[in-house]
Amino acid sequence: MPAHTNKVYTSTCCYCGVGCGVKVTLDKNDNIAVEGDADHPVNRGTLCSKGLNLQYTVNDKSDRLLYPQMRYGKSMPIQRVSWDDALTRTAAVFKTFIDKYGPDSVAFYASGQCLTEEYYVINKLIKGFIGSNNIDTNSRLCMSSAVTAYKMALGEDSVPVCYEDIELADCFFVTGANPAWCHPILWRRIEAHKAANPEVKLIIADPRVTDSCGLADLHLQLNPGTDVTLNYAIGRALIEKGNIDTDFINQHTRGFEDYQNRVFERTLKEAALICGLTVAEIELAADYIADAKGFLTLWTMGLNQSSIGVNKNLSLINLNLITGHIGKPGSGPFSLTGQPNAMGGREVGGLANLLPAHRDLNNETHRLEVQKFWGGTTISDKPGLTATEMFEALDEGKLKAIWILCTNPLTSLPNARFAEQALKKAKFVVVQEITDKAETLAYADVILPAAAWAEKEGTMTNSERRISHLQKVTNAPGEALPDAEIICRFAIKMGYKGFEYKGMEDIYKEHTRLTYRSSININGLDYQRIDKSKTIQWPYNKKTEKGTKRLFTNHLFHTESKKAIIHSPSDELKSELPDEDFPFILTTGRIRDQWHTMSKTGKVSKLKQHLKHAYLEIHPKDAVLLDIIDQEVLVIKSRRGEVQVKAKVSATIKQGVVFLPMHWGKILGSDLNRANNITSTIIDPISKEPDFKYCAVHIEKY
Ligand code: SF4
Repeated sequence: MPAHTNKVYTSTCCYCGVGCGVKVTLDKNDNIAVEGDADHPVNRGTLCSKGLNLQYTVNDKSDRLLYPQMRYGKSMPIQRVSWDDALTRTAAVFKTFIDKYGPDSVAFYASGQCLTEEYYVINKLIKGFIGSNNIDTNSRLCMSSAVTAYKMALGEDSVPVCYEDIELADCFFVTGANPAWCHPILWRRIEAHKAANPEVKLIIADPRVTDSCGLADLHLQLNPGTDVTLNYAIGRALIEKGNIDTDFINQHTRGFEDYQNRVFERTLKEAALICGLTVAEIELAADYIADAKGFLTLWTMGLNQSSIGVNKNLSLINLNLITGHIGKPGSGPFSLTGQPNAMGGREVGGLANLLPAHRDLNNETHRLEVQKFWGGTTISDKPGLTATEMFEALDEGKLKAIWILCTNPLTSLPNARFAEQALKKAKFVVVQEITDKAETLAYADVILPAAAWAEKEGTMTNSERRISHLQKVTNAPGEALPDAEIICRFAIKMGYKGFEYKGMEDIYKEHTRLTYRSSININGLDYQRIDKSKTIQWPYNKKTEKGTKRLFTNHLFHTESKKAIIHSPSDELKSELPDEDFPFILTTGRIRDQWHTMSKTGKVSKLKQHLKHAYLEIHPKDAVLLDIIDQEVLVIKSRRGEVQVKAKVSATIKQGVVFLPMHWGKILGSDLNRANNITSTIIDPISKEPDFKYCAVHIEKY
């Protein structure tokens, strides 16, 4: 018998929304090793560079926060305290603000990386007991435009498709996404499918020539912000050639007449001119779609992070609706989730305008149902502050206290220097974190050390509604605690009843009970049942013990009429347009081997080899005009601030457009690499998602 047998646990990668299964082995020195789970339905044993290096982020504890810290006044030093002292004082301060200024004077800003159980208890605490809806997460920066569009078009935030549809589709329209870098394992499935079936068509719409474009049959290198015009033009081309599903439109949708009028407002020639494309390219895209038996649209931040993000989403979903490509194998609109558990957060209602299990905040019956279930205070009908609104409210002094967990807003929010100023003005800041590198810590009155991935248990839901159970593998260092436990301990300090859970599964079961009779019903699900089949896709049928691969197969949607709604909003862009002083359009995004603000992936030397530094991608003709050479240091200015990075002169970007990666912040030194020093403060008016993909900038040599 060996003295020590390494134990193997199952979990899910904590980065993107693909949701790859991993096996985690714990050795006798308490170090972990990670490999892809060969039996997992999503990744079948494969992992991308980020997933393959997960163990380094857990084994390297050099930056971890180990014990609670607190300062007794803004001018006093922060010092180590006990959990009891930290939470007792935090509860006292929160109570004081709530009593004096009302429940809306406090807020929680969380993350799409939180586990479902964590989301659930934060949401329950603020909405059901404090009596405010001031809970928002960085999912606001990520998926809120898609959420809003799904609700408007299909009646609920319901992703209709599953990954198996990839192998059943014969036409893909990938738009506003670079899955080869940002959803790599999903992309490998598309690559493999296309390799085995060369007749499968792939259309990509992107102002940049990304790695994903290498596989495309047609790359529509459109002008930034013209997606609605393009999608309408494709719709017009489909209608003109009679390549729409009239029976489906008549029986299962509403709004087609207005849509037809809208798309016929522009000729294909006019639309092509606006988009910077040719009529032939638009017609070819429409022909590929027309010939498809299975048609999948896939998108992510290029559509979501926009001043007209909802309109972009709606115009794309329309292409599935007018061709009848929804609710059947190989077809449907498929929003690729940026974060690992943005979907789980939406299930529990973890945004400022949501309630659990897809209930509506503005529906009194729904509010009363949840209120009765929780047994706390009256749930307010007033939507809470969204991500950017929270920082505006801090700046204006309306919001007194903010509790930030599992996210690093001073790198990830637009106009980050403003966010920094606003946080400085907060009366009381709680930061619940794993790393001592987060920029928010400089402004914290209380620092609470949290357990990281593999150090706690819970569930997550990936892009295709697939729920997985993440096992606890190892203990958190020092006194760090799981996020849900911290929130529950605080709630108990506040004197609230209903937070005395026996463990994470206890929280999970309560959440599942609240979904009973809703469209996302998972009542009866527990960790054992999830583990039995590795994962379950909601909704779950307790009797058959099975999940659901695909939604709307009966073509009954979640709207009042049971019909899908074809919306026809204007294609007018509301972004900050370039002018004489700021003549370039800036777009921002991810790179292959880094995740968000690099607090984890930035620790892994292997992941830094791909692209070591922030850079500005600029077209060679623009570089000539500005007398810039490759690798030269540039100053990029907008009306909000500036960034200094080296030039990457490349024909992979459209003329007049420049690209900055979004990952760099102060974590690795100065804030001059931080793309969000210059991004726009404009948000989509409906989804409140920021316009990270479009603002006007000026470029000069350093
Ligand atoms: Fe993790 Fe996403 Fe890579 Fe899968 S594709 S290993 S979920 S980062």
